[in-house]
Amino acid sequence: LDALNPNVAAMRPSATLAISARASALRREGRDVIALSAGEPDFPTPAPIVEAAHQALRDERFGYTASAGLPELREAVAQKLRDENGLDVEAGQVVCSNGAKQAVAQSLLAVCAPGDEVVIPAPYWVSYPEMVRLAGAEPVAVEATAEAGYKVTPEQLDAAITERTRAVILNSPSNPTGAVYTASELEALAAVIRRHPRVLVVSDEIYEYVVFDADFQSFAALDGMAERTMTVNGFSKGFAMTGWRLGYLAGPPWWASAASKIQSQLTSGPNSITQYAALAAFTMGPEPVETMVAAFRERRDAVLARLRALDGVACPTPQGAFYLFPDVSSVYGRRAPGGAEVAGSVDLCTYLLDEHGVALVPGEAFGSDAGVRLSYATDLDTLMRACDRIGAGWEALR
Ligand code: PLP
Repeated sequence: LDALNPNVAAMRPSATLAISARASALRREGRDVIALSAGEPDFPTPAPIVEAAHQALRDERFGYTASAGLPELREAVAQKLRDENGLDVEAGQVVCSNGAKQAVAQSLLAVCAPGDEVVIPAPYWVSYPEMVRLAGAEPVAVEATAEAGYKVTPEQLDAAITERTRAVILNSPSNPTGAVYTASELEALAAVIRRHPRVLVVSDEIYEYVVFDADFQSFAALDGMAERTMTVNGFSKGFAMTGWRLGYLAGPPWWASAASKIQSQLTSGPNSITQYAALAAFTMGPEPVETMVAAFRERRDAVLARLRALDGVACPTPQGAFYLFPDVSSVYGRRAPGGAEVAGSVDLCTYLLDEHGVALVPGEAFGSDAGVRLSYATDLDTLMRACDRIGAGWEALR
C-alpha cells in the first residue's frame, strides 16, 4: 500500500529545516536563541514593487496568467538578460516560475533520465541533489575545499564527467559559501564542458546582485554555452522577495519549452499579483539593491574578522551572497564541557544551539562536513552577540 515512487523514496528531507525546528522548539521553551540559519534577506521588499502589487490588487488582476508567465514579464526578463548578462534570448525562451527553486527543478526534470548523472560542486545548495533524485538521476558531488576558495577546478570537473553525465549545476555566487567564480574561472570550466557534447549546464544565478568586489558573469554568455545552458534566476534574493515566489529560467527553446510543459501540468503560472509587482523591479533603479548589498558587505567583514580570530578557523573571503562557510574541522574530536564529543558539523551545531543559543547550519547538509553555514542576513548588533556566543562555545571545547 505504501510503496512510494522510487525517485521520491530516494529523496532526503531538508536538513536545514531540522535545525530551524530545533531552534523554534528551544524558543518555545523560553530560551534566547539567535538564528543565523535563514536563507533570506532581512530587508523589506523595495517600495515601488510593493506599490505595484497594491495597484495590481486595485486593478483586480485576479485571473490565471499564461502558464509560462505574463508576456510583458517574460519580455522584461529577456531584455534584462540581453542588456545585463549579454545573452541572446527572446521572451519565448523565458519561463516565469514559483521561485528559482521551481525553475531549477523543472530544468532538471526536463532532461534527466534514469542512469544519468548530474555533477554538483560541493558545498552545494541542499535542494540540488534531491531534485536530481526526484528526476530519477544520480547526483555526483565534487568537493571544493576552503583552500580552493570553495571553487571546483577544471581538472576536478573533468575527472567527474563520465559518459553518463547529463548535466552540471553551477551556482555563483554560491549558497552556502558565497564563492563567486571569475569570468576566466568560468571560461576554464566551459572549456571542459565543450569537450563533452552531451553535457548540459544549469546555472543558478539567484545571488547575481549580491556581489561585493567581484564582477558577475553569466555562464551562458561564454562562447558556445548558450545552446546548452539553462540560466536560472529570480527575485527572492536580489529584491528581498522570498515570500512572493517568483523566479525564472531562460535557455535553448527546446529545453525551455519542455520546462514550460512541466509547469503547465504541475502548477500553471506564478501568482498574478507577484508578476505585476515584479515588473516594477526593472524600472525602479538600483538604489534599494545597492543599500542592501552595502549592508551585507559591512556585516560580512565584521563577522569574518570575529570568526578568523577563533583558533583553528579558516574561512575564505566570500565575494557574494550573504553566507559565511568557515572550515571548523579543527575542533572535531574535542569534547563539550558535559563530555559529549563533537565529531562533526552536526554535533558542533547541536552543541552551539543547545549550550550557547546560536543556530548555524551543519555543513553536512551541504555535502561538506568540514564547515558550518552562517547567514549574516540579520542586523550587526545581533551578529556581534552571536559571535560572542560562538566564541564562548569555541573556547569551552576541550
Ligand atoms: N538557488 C539557491 C542557490 C538558493 O539559495 C535559493 C534559496 O535559498 C534558491 C535557488 C531558491 O530561490 P527561490 O526563493 O527563488 O525559489
